[in-house]
Amino acid sequence: MKIALMLLLGISAIVLSSCIYETWKNKKKITVPMLKLLRSSLVAVVLNFLILAFPVQWLSEILYGLHFANVSWMMYFMLCFSLSYIGSKPENHINIPIMRAVLSFDSIALLLNFWGGHAYSTKLYNTWGGGFCYICVHRWYLSIHALIVHILMAFIFIALGYQTIKAPKVYRKKYLYPFFLLMIVIFLDLMHHLEWNPVDISVVGYGVGTIILYYYAIRFQPKDLARRSLGIVIDDMIESVFIFDAEGTCIRMNEAANNMFEMQDKIGMVEEYFAEWKKKVDIRAESGKSWEWSMPRENKEKHYLARYHGLFDEKNRYIGSFWTVRDRTEIVEELRKQRFLATHDHLTGLYNEEWFYEKVKEMLDTEPEEEFYIVCSDIQNFKFINDIFGRNVGDELLIKMAGRLKDRVAIGGVYGHLEQDRFALLIKKADFDPTIFKDIPKEVHANKDISYPVNIFLGIYEVVDRNIPVSVMCEHAIMAVHTLKGGFNLEIAYYDEMLKASVLKEQQLTSDLDKAIENREIQIYLQPQITGEGTMVGAEALVRWLHPTRGMVMPGEFIEIFEHNGLIVKLDQYIWRLACEHLKRWKECGWGDKYISVNISPTDFHFIDIYDTFMELIEEYQINPKNLRLEITETAVITNLEKQLELIAKLRKAGFIVEMDDFGSGYSSLNMLKDIRVDVLKFDLNFLRNSNDIERSRKIIKSLMILSHELEMPAISEGVETKEQVEFLKGIGCNLFQGYYFARPMDVKTFEETYM
Ligand code: C2E
Ligand code: CA
Ligand code: CA
Repeated sequence: MKIALMLLLGISAIVLSSCIYETWKNKKKITVPMLKLLRSSLVAVVLNFLILAFPVQWLSEILYGLHFANVSWMMYFMLCFSLSYIGSKPENHINIPIMRAVLSFDSIALLLNFWGGHAYSTKLYNTWGGGFCYICVHRWYLSIHALIVHILMAFIFIALGYQTIKAPKVYRKKYLYPFFLLMIVIFLDLMHHLEWNPVDISVVGYGVGTIILYYYAIRFQPKDLARRSLGIVIDDMIESVFIFDAEGTCIRMNEAANNMFEMQDKIGMVEEYFAEWKKKVDIRAESGKSWEWSMPRENKEKHYLARYHGLFDEKNRYIGSFWTVRDRTEIVEELRKQRFLATHDHLTGLYNEEWFYEKVKEMLDTEPEEEFYIVCSDIQNFKFINDIFGRNVGDELLIKMAGRLKDRVAIGGVYGHLEQDRFALLIKKADFDPTIFKDIPKEVHANKDISYPVNIFLGIYEVVDRNIPVSVMCEHAIMAVHTLKGGFNLEIAYYDEMLKASVLKEQQLTSDLDKAIENREIQIYLQPQITGEGTMVGAEALVRWLHPTRGMVMPGEFIEIFEHNGLIVKLDQYIWRLACEHLKRWKECGWGDKYISVNISPTDFHFIDIYDTFMELIEEYQINPKNLRLEITETAVITNLEKQLELIAKLRKAGFIVEMDDFGSGYSSLNMLKDIRVDVLKFDLNFLRNSNDIERSRKIIKSLMILSHELEMPAISEGVETKEQVEFLKGIGCNLFQGYYFARPMDVKTFEETYM
C-alpha cells in the first residue's frame, strides 16, 4: 500500500512537472491560475511522498504542517482557476486581500503547530500492505483549517455546478466533468477527515484530478460545436458538397447539393451519378482534380465544375470521399455569349466572315472526298434599297435571307453573313438547291405604292482547289456574281474558265496600262456638243484604248476595273493632259472659244487634290479654265457632301465650268439640288429609253428642265438619238445637246476636220 501510494505520488509529481512546463511554454489564456494550481498540487504530492518516504517523526510533523497550509492555498487557487475557467474573474466574486489574509493566518497557525501542538500530532502507523509512516491525529485547530478548506471547496462546487446547468448543451461537458472530478476529490478528502481512512489518499486525488483538469481545460474542444459549425459552414457554401463513405453511400449533402438534385432527388440518384464518376476517377492519384460536367435541369443545360477529394486514414486506407460541385452555368453562358458575339454577325446571327472561313476550312478538311460549292449571294442595288427605303427595310431583307439559309441548308453545309448583302455558303454539290432564296419577296415596299424589285444573284465557285484560301474561293464566287447584270429572276453564275479568262483579261489590262500610256495607245475621242441652232460649242473627251491586239477597247471594259484598283487616277490625269494639249493647240489655231469636258471619276477625289491638279494644268498649258469643263458625278459629291461642295465652289471661283454628269440617273438628285451649285446639269436621256411610259418620263424631264432654269443651272442633254427628242427638248427649253443624233464620239483629227 505504502509503496503503491508512493508510486502514484511519484508519477503524479513527474506528470505535474511536465504540465507546468508545458503551460509555462504555451502561454494559454488559462495560464496564471492554472500554473498556481499545478504548482500547489505538485507541492502537495511531493510533501506526501516525503512523508511516506521518511518515517521520521519530527520531519513528518513539519511536512504535515506544510501540507495542510498548502492544501488551503491549493483550494484557493482551485477556486480562482474554476472562476476563470467558467469565464469569470476571481476578483469579481471574492475579496482577494481578505482571502489571502485568512489563508496566511491559517498557514502560520499550522506551521506553529510544531511548537504548540494545537492542530495535530503524529503517530506511527502500519499501512495495510506493510511499511510504516507517521499519520496525523487531529487537534482542535485542524477543524478550523478544514472549515476554511471546505468553504473554498463549496465555492468551487457552486461555481462549476452553476455553470454546468447554465451552459449551452455543447459546452456542458466542459464543466460537468471537472465538477464530478471535484466531487470525487472532496469525497476522498472527507474520508480522511472523518478518519475512515487514516492515510490521506485524497492527495493522490488532488494530483491526478489536477492533471485531468489541466488536460480538460487546455484540450477541451466541444466536438459537437465543431461539428455543428462545420455543418453550418458547409450549408452556407455556394458550392454543393457531397460526402460519401467508403462504400459509396452519400452520408451528407449540403443545402446547395440538395437544390442541385431537387428535380431528381430520388433515393440513390446521387450515388448513381457519382458511381459513374468514380469508375473514371483514380481515387488516389486524382484527389483534388476537377472535371467539367453538364446535366439538363429545368429545361436548361447546366454546367458544373466538380472536384473530387479522396479521404484516407493515417495508414493511407481509403475511407471515403467528398465532392464539391460548383455551378458554372452563368460563366459558361457568358463565355458562350462572348464567343458567339465574336464569331457571329449580330444582325442575322449567322457566322461572321472570319468564322465562316474558319468553319469552311474545317469542313473541307474533315471531308476531303466530298465535292463542294462555295455560293455567294448578292442583292441587286442593295445600297439603293438601304438608302431609299431605309435601313430597317434592308435589314429585314437580310434577316429573311438568313432565315432561309438556316431553314434550308442541310447539316452538311456551312453558311455565314460576310458583309452587307453578301451571304456565303459551303454546301455539298449534291445538296445545292438553286431556289434557296425563292421565297424571299420579289419586292420591297416603302408603302403600298412604292416598291422596288429585289433581285438576288448567286455566284458559285466549285471547290476544285482546296489549297487556296477560303476568302479567295469566296472572291471567285463573287466574281461570278458580278457577271450577272440586270434581269429580274434569280440568276446564277458559275465561276468557270470563261470567267477566269475574263479575270485574266482584267489583270492583263491592268498590267498593260503603263505601257499603253507610253505608247500612246490611250487616246481621247471627242463627242461634239451642239446648240439648238446647230453650232458646235465644245466636246466631251471620252477615253479609247487602241489596243495593238484587241483593237479598240471601250471605257466600259476597263473604267470599273481601274476604279476598283485605283489606276483610274493615272488614266484620268493622262486624259486631262491630252485634253489640255488639244486646248492649247486650238487656242493657238484661233479656236479658243471651244471647250472640252473631261470626266472625273469619284475615285480620283480620294487620291489627288483635284483643285491643285487642275490649277497646275491650266498654268502649265496656259489655257483659260473656262475651256476645260469638269464632269463630276453625283456619287462623287454625295460621298462627302460638305467637302465636295467646298471644292466645287473653289473650282468655279477659279473659272472652271463644273457639270453635274448623269443628272437624273442617280437617286439623290433632288435632295442634293438644294445645296449644290454647279454651272451645268447634264441630263442622261438613257432613262427615257428604258421607260415604258414615255409620256410620264417626258413630264419629269420637263419639270427638271424648269427646275434647272429656276436654279440658274442650264441643262445639256446627252444621249440624244432622234430628231423627235431634239424637238421635244428644244420645246421645253433645252438648247444644248450631245448624242448620236448629232455625232458619235470621234478621234480628234476627224473632229477637227468636221467642225473647225
Ligand atoms: P459618260 O460620261 O456618261 O459618257 C457618255 C457616254 O454615252 C459615252 O460612252 C458616249 O459614247 C455615250 N453616248 C453618247 N451619245 C450617246 C447616244 O446618243 N446614245 C447612247 N446610247 N450612248 C451615247 P463611252 O464613251 O462608252 O463612255 C462610257 C462611260 O465611261 C462614260 O459615261 C464615263 O462615265 C466613262 N468614261 C469615258 N471616258 C472616261 C474618262 O476619260 N475618264 C473617266 N473617269 N471615265 C470615262
Ligand atoms: Ca461624262
Ligand atoms: Ca454622262
